[in-house]
Amino acid sequence: MTATILDGKAIAASLRAEIATHVAARAAAPGLATVLVGDDPASAVYVRNKHKACAEVGMHSIGIQLPAATSQAELLGVVAELNARADVHGILVQLPLPAHIDALAVISAIDVHKDVDCLHPENVGLLAQKGREPRFAPCTPAGVMHILQVANIPLAGANAVVLGRSNIVGMPLSLLLVRADATVTIAHSRTGDLPAVCRAADVLVAAVGVPEMVRADWVKPGATVIDVGINRIADPAAKSGSRLVGDVAYAEVAGRAGAITPVPGGVGPMTIAMLLSNTLRAAEAEIKEPR
Ligand code: NDP
Repeated sequence: MTATILDGKAIAASLRAEIATHVAARAAAPGLATVLVGDDPASAVYVRNKHKACAEVGMHSIGIQLPAATSQAELLGVVAELNARADVHGILVQLPLPAHIDALAVISAIDVHKDVDCLHPENVGLLAQKGREPRFAPCTPAGVMHILQVANIPLAGANAVVLGRSNIVGMPLSLLLVRADATVTIAHSRTGDLPAVCRAADVLVAAVGVPEMVRADWVKPGATVIDVGINRIADPAAKSGSRLVGDVAYAEVAGRAGAITPVPGGVGPMTIAMLLSNTLRAAEAEIKEPR
């Protein structure tokens, strides 16, 4: 069997085009504010990409860069100002924050209606409660769900296994899969016999951060395999001396799965597309329910 490749790059591009059409139809552009504390180069690249993506769909964005020595009180002051601005619909505080700042206190200070990363405990709580309508879904898990939806992967009654239970990927994704009526197993570093747990999955999602951990014999023939992992490994044959791989041994698993996301070009491009989608959603919700 050769798996269908789930092309996240193409799915993200079509979502972005759809978002651009909605943005163009609005009187005022939705606005995203990012807050970056310190000078971590990787975080700076992520934030730059988010601004670029906003511009490409016609959204406006504000980038606030603060020195690493910024106090928690100062940062909370910045968040309060952004909460009050009518032209800012989404607020994203780039993580990780410097160690002297309590990240949970900062995230909890973001207006729940502008929490486009969906990390505020109230918004995570809405995801977890049956019968409640969540305001947002966190970007990477929402991106995974969007890929599954576009690819018409049946979820109701399916066995889904999520490898990883982090606050940004594994746990909220598990909640979204339950909302889609899948039967969900959450596996982590203390789970026994991971290969056997994974082999029960109709839909297997790997979000562990361990290069190529999921092997072909962990996968039920015909299963859908979603690889969230982004790992840089040494590769003397590559010009740069390294290359990106996921948490799934792609070449061998693609010979057994029914459908699979590649790395790069799978889940990765979906994250920023869902951030744009959440920012548009925040702007549209403002019209429906004026605050
Ligand atoms: P975390 O390190 O926060 O969480 C990793 C999870 O995997 C934990 O729950 C941990 O278990 C579990 N785990 C780690 N090692 C093992 C193991 N050997 N066996 C079983 N479980 C294990 O990572 P993130 O969730 O933030 O990220 C996961 C991956 O996804 C990374 O490669 C990251 O780069 C990528 N990522 C990609 C994004 C994208 O846009 N595509 C966005 C965010 C992340 P325990 O809880 O027991 O410690």
